[in-house]
Formats: sequence, C-alpha cells, structure tokens
Amino acid sequence: MTTFELVDFHCHLDMYPDPVAVVRETEALGIMALAVTTTPYNWPRNKALTAHSKSIYAALGLHPQLMTHHEEEIALWDTYLGDTRYIGEVGLDAGPRFRHSLETQKRVFQHILQRSSAAGDKILSVHSVRTATMVLDYTETFFRSGKVVLHWFTGSQGEAKRAVKQGCYFSINTIMMKSERHLATIKTLPINRILTETDGPSTMTEGRPSKPADVSLAVAQLALLHNLPTEKMAMIIRQNVQALLG
Ligand code: MN
Repeated sequence: MTTFELVDFHCHLDMYPDPVAVVRETEALGIMALAVTTTPYNWPRNKALTAHSKSIYAALGLHPQLMTHHEEEIALWDTYLGDTRYIGEVGLDAGPRFRHSLETQKRVFQHILQRSSAAGDKILSVHSVRTATMVLDYTETFFRSGKVVLHWFTGSQGEAKRAVKQGCYFSINTIMMKSERHLATIKTLPINRILTETDGPSTMTEGRPSKPADVSLAVAQLALLHNLPTEKMAMIIRQNVQALLG
C-alpha cells in the first residue's frame, strides 16, 4: 500500500463536475479515498476513473435510495462483482422519502450480502438510515466473510455497541458531529474502529461541495473529541484503514 496522510472512506468522485480533476487533486494530496458508486451502470466509468490511482479505490454499489427504478441493475452488479474488493454504496433506508421501497431494498441488500460473502474478502460501505438494527440483523445473518464499514451511522449507542461486536468500522463525517446525540455515540466507539469520510459532493464544506481534502476537518473534530493532537488522530485513522484492508 502507498503512503497517505488522510482517509476519505466514502465519497462519490464520479459525481463531481470534473471527476478526473478531483481524482488527480486527491492523489496529489496523498489522500486515500474510497470512491463509491450508486448504480452498477456507472461502474465501468468509476473503475476507469480510478484504475491508475495508487490511493483511490472504486467500490461497486447499488444505492438503497435508488431502488424504485434500479432494482433490475442487480444483474449488472453480479457481473461486475469480480472486478473489485470494495462494495458500496449499499444498505437500507427507511427515512420518509424511501421507506416505500424498503421491501425491495431488503431483497437487494440480502442478495448483495450473500454474493459478497460467498466471494469472500469484500469490504462494504453501508448506508443504514433509520435501519441500524435491521442492517445489523442482515449483516449478521447474510455476511459471514468480509468487513463492514458503517457510513454516516446514526443509530443508538446500543446499536453502535452491537455493530462493534460484529466487527464493524465507522466512517465519520463532520455533519454527524454537529449532533450532540451522534457525537455522544461516536465518543463511545473504540478508537481503532474509526475512519473518516466526506460523502462529497452531496455534503457542503464552507458553502461549496465537500472535496476529499475536507476530511481534515473531521480528523480535527475527532481529535478534539478524544483530546488528542490532530496528527495523532490522523495517524490512528491511517492505522485503522491499514488494519481494515489487511
Ligand atoms: Mn453516499
């Protein structure tokens, strides 16, 4: 593995106006990034975008919020599974706008977990809006081999504890840390399970779409939370990602 300073373990590089420029900039800054995709249809482009990068990995996903019109793309997801070790963005969303498709989401998520588990050694970036317990039930039952990173986790402290027991990692962004309740939960997580993310470009930093480099703000806030120097926190996150990737 290459050396890197910062880790953005969940971003959508293919959604920036100039993805090639963002990839180049991210790599030049020595940032390790996980570029998730939202539909398998977009996978070849995302794969090509990151093919020559030493610090940016592309993940193959099927986003739970897109299930109404994209369920049939699961067949395409199957055909690309062998292309990558990284799977995301996948998961469940029972928020008011998406719970109407929850049954479809569950069907697709179960399929993704079973196929990923059978393939072995996959690393998943998982969305769990208002479904933390359900997501953990599914990963416990259907994902026996591989690692789960809970992206933007907003479950309870009890659910976080259960996720830790399952071996999950957590990718933390600055928006999560604006909530006192989530901050209190983040503080209970073992420090060796913490990663950072931006979820850019859909999140904003200083009034513009977040870029992977903005993950430094999440590192600084986590450092404050744990009363550690920022450099030390950044080092812990680098060690965590190395442990995760093995
Ligand atoms: Mn996302």
